[in-house]
Amino acid sequence: MGDWLDGLPLVDHHCHAIVGESRKADALGALRATSEAPGGYPLVDLVERPAWQAVLRVMERFAASPFRLTTGDVSVEGVTTLNWAEKTLSGVDYHRYCTDLFRAGGYAQLYVDGGYEPEGSVTLSNLARLSGASTRPILRLERLGEDQHTPGRSFDDWWERVTQRVRTAREEGYVAAKSIAAYRTGLHVQPVSLAEARAAYTRWGEPVSLQQVAPRLKDKALIDFLLWHTAPLLANQALPLQFHTGYGDPDTDLLQGNPLWLRGFLETFIPQGLAVVLLHTYPYHREAGYLASVYEGVYFDVSLIIPMGVSGARRVLAEALELTSYRRFLFASDAHTRPEMFLLAADTFRDALAHHFADAVLTHYVSPAVRERWAGLILHANARKLYLGEEE
Ligand SMILES: [Zn+2]
Repeated sequence: MGDWLDGLPLVDHHCHAIVGESRKADALGALRATSEAPGGYPLVDLVERPAWQAVLRVMERFAASPFRLTTGDVSVEGVTTLNWAEKTLSGVDYHRYCTDLFRAGGYAQLYVDGGYEPEGSVTLSNLARLSGASTRPILRLERLGEDQHTPGRSFDDWWERVTQRVRTAREEGYVAAKSIAAYRTGLHVQPVSLAEARAAYTRWGEPVSLQQVAPRLKDKALIDFLLWHTAPLLANQALPLQFHTGYGDPDTDLLQGNPLWLRGFLETFIPQGLAVVLLHTYPYHREAGYLASVYEGVYFDVSLIIPMGVSGARRVLAEALELTSYRRFLFASDAHTRPEMFLLAADTFRDALAHHFADAVLTHYVSPAVRERWAGLILHANARKLYLGEEE
């Protein structure tokens, strides 16, 4: 799939860590990682999806299993494939297996959002060791707010510590910040007065001890205040701000996750030099493409649907690229937990991109050299420029 793109390295501008050796044979975890369905979702339904079948193919290809993968009765097959995956994964040399998968995917760099860490996941340096790719951290803003919320801390003290961390983020090695406002209170981010923010802070319950984590930051006034006032600090350091948009697990209100809600925020901070990156975007990838086509400083991807919606990858990518410049679109996997998902993301994305560049109208007007340059922008050069300031 996508052969002519195989030699081009990948920079994954948004992903999460994978599990370590102790969970290498967690087949159930592997199945769960193919979908955004919550824990109680029936396994019998989860296995009847192309993403799980594709993960099985990846395991088959790289784990050199002595066990046969049998197909049978629909209700039985889920159990059969889970058992097969568990036996197969138990026998792999995990380090080598991971390195093989990431290398086959062509991964050169991973920008990792530590705001979501799967149970049993590895550190950033271990992810680099297992993947053979270099890793860079992304600062999750709501998590930072929660981490700094300790017993007895005043609003002023809390806010000083939060902004201090944001001000030094680039120095500390972060390549971007990320917000999950879409998950908590929606993307209609608006200006909030200091008095409103103070009142919201007072309403926010305190952790009872230093050992306890703070209650979730889920007050719209405080999240909006956090975003509105850290945005200029990020712009000053040329640090892009990533927003979760579009679909995710049912904790998100998909109606509030439409990136069109960000219009006021974009119109305020884009002129100040902030780069805003719309993550995932599906089913709003066309809206995201529109925003990127009219606002300087807006970037986006179609991670998550690629790799989870394997059969729609070609169509979604083509729709995402209908309007916008090829300088505004980036590859991301949003993969987590399992190395197989990283390879699946890379394979399906390259296939979809090759298919897109083979479009009859596109090939009629755009030369092979230009198409090759555009592919390079999307697969790695846009991310290197946006996050690291590296020119092509
Ligand atoms: Zn993510």
